[in-house]
Amino acid sequence: MPRLGRNASGSPVGCLEGANALATLDIRLQGDPVLRKIAKPVKKVGPAVRSLLKDMAETMYAANGVGLAAPQVGIAKRIIVVDAGDGLMELVNPELIRAEGQEVGVEGCLSIPGLIGEVERFAKVTVTCLDHDGRQRWIEGEGLLARVLQHEIDHLNGVLFTDKALAVHEARSEGEEGEEDEGEAAEAAEGAESLEEAGPEAESAVSFEVAPDAARED
Ligand SMILES: [Zn+2]
Repeated sequence: MPRLGRNASGSPVGCLEGANALATLDIRLQGDPVLRKIAKPVKKVGPAVRSLLKDMAETMYAANGVGLAAPQVGIAKRIIVVDAGDGLMELVNPELIRAEGQEVGVEGCLSIPGLIGEVERFAKVTVTCLDHDGRQRWIEGEGLLARVLQHEIDHLNGVLFTDKALAVHEARSEGEEGEEDEGEAAEAAEGAESLEEAGPEAESAVSFEVAPDAARED
């Protein structure tokens, strides 16, 4: 299974085996006005915020994502969850305070299924935030983590990766599983992007909320 994380208290996050037990939220798609709002800072990290963080994490894992921002589930609050391979991170009021270097990498977005693009991002970032107990945290990240943090913080400012991408392509690569009918095509593309199915080659073609396989250009 991909990315079964554990939260700070050590209990498993999500139950990927029993998909029907998940408290997954509906992911808003491009065109939904909530994705273009400037999200509001969280004043107090209480039970409602913790419950949202939990549901967001479950939603992210269920979608094989590596990050999810609250506006993507219809909530214009400054809250994101990230798992770039080192376990779940829950960030409330995240703020980019330091950045260095530039790197171009491939990204996708759970709110923009079927599209990927090359985006230039800072190679290394420092982000401050509150954790799920309201404690101040500093997170340093590079590579995929830095990219995901920047992508998710952009969501809080109403910015989508397609606004910044140097180029945008269809995510579906040719010769993948033959032809499906229209209805199934979208679903198939989504599946093709799961980390689980991504080969080593795809892994280096850093991707995103929706991950790699489709990022290959062959
Ligand atoms: Zn996104």
